[in-house]
Amino acid sequence: MKSLQELVRPNIFNLKPYSSAHDEFTGEASVYLDANESPYNSPYNRYPDPYQRKLKEKVAELKEVAVEQIFLGNGSDEPIDLLIKAFCTPGTDNIISIDPTYGMYQVAADINEVKVRRVALTASFELNTKALLDAADDNSKLLFICSPNNPTGNSFKREEILEIINAFQGIVVLDEAYIDFSSKKSLLSEMDQHPNLVVLQTFSKAWGMAGLRLGMALASKEIIGILNKIKYPYNINILTQEKVLDMLNDEERTKRWIKTTIEEREKMARELKKFSFVTTIHPSDANFLLIQTLDANELYKFLVDQKIIVRNRSTVALCNNCVRITIGSPEENQQILEALKQYQTMKA
Ligand SMILES: *Cc1c(COP(=O)(O)O)cnc(C)c1O
Repeated sequence: MKSLQELVRPNIFNLKPYSSAHDEFTGEASVYLDANESPYNSPYNRYPDPYQRKLKEKVAELKEVAVEQIFLGNGSDEPIDLLIKAFCTPGTDNIISIDPTYGMYQVAADINEVKVRRVALTASFELNTKALLDAADDNSKLLFICSPNNPTGNSFKREEILEIINAFQGIVVLDEAYIDFSSKKSLLSEMDQHPNLVVLQTFSKAWGMAGLRLGMALASKEIIGILNKIKYPYNINILTQEKVLDMLNDEERTKRWIKTTIEEREKMARELKKFSFVTTIHPSDANFLLIQTLDANELYKFLVDQKIIVRNRSTVALCNNCVRITIGSPEENQQILEALKQYQTMKA
């Protein structure tokens, strides 16, 4: 890879960040008159810890990384935006992404006036490693890979992801939002050997905390230092910091949820196979199934009439007539199967 100084935008590399009251004094005191806070309405009158130290200590333990290798954001959407801001000069630099994939990379790039070079997956949804690397030029700063991928559900081969990390001159952003449901291991363990790897994970999916908004970027302490420099000073509010910390202490409960979701995913795949309007069930390492049907628009409308909402992905590259079905609770999954039986009867 190129050096960080070559990759980061010069104005960001040289940026002197905002220094908050909490930055200038970090010890314990009995009287705080430094931040123009109200003395009333404790504990919400105080600004939150800008670096979420307590929460990060717990996350560090959970992910087996150092506290300095963790950035916490308002969802993983925040680090996606900050990475583009930090590395890509608007109107000049570009990012590379697979297609189809998660829509936020494109949106964040568009907002930042950064071009996206999209490289199609193969027909069986595998990485086109050579085409991804060939798409890069001197202004390609970031390369986004989502594995397990949304909306296709499959994970990519570890050796192929590593091949890209080794060959790409910029930063590889590996989005592992669905890693907890995957049979494949996280690439987090490769982070120390690969300084151009940023891994994104989130508490929105397996941990069931989408409403609390907490995502993370895990990377070298140099890259995390850059993200810390450009984030809003108090990006994670007190309620989220406390509630997440509390819930992280019950890892066993999350493991049970994951186990049930995976069992339900396999059950759903078996049941969906029985319907003649389902033409393909794509293998999934995530908490959803992408299925190809005879008529996705018709099926989608039928389910909406039954008050069941799935995601119609039929306009997405390589996903003609596909719908994405999230794996719900056993009861919810039973409900959609009943509705699909009715649809099948109607079609016969
Ligand atoms: C759901 C999802 C996320 C999570 O986003 P948050 O902002 O953390 O809720 C990230 N990446 C992908 C690919 C997703 O599908």
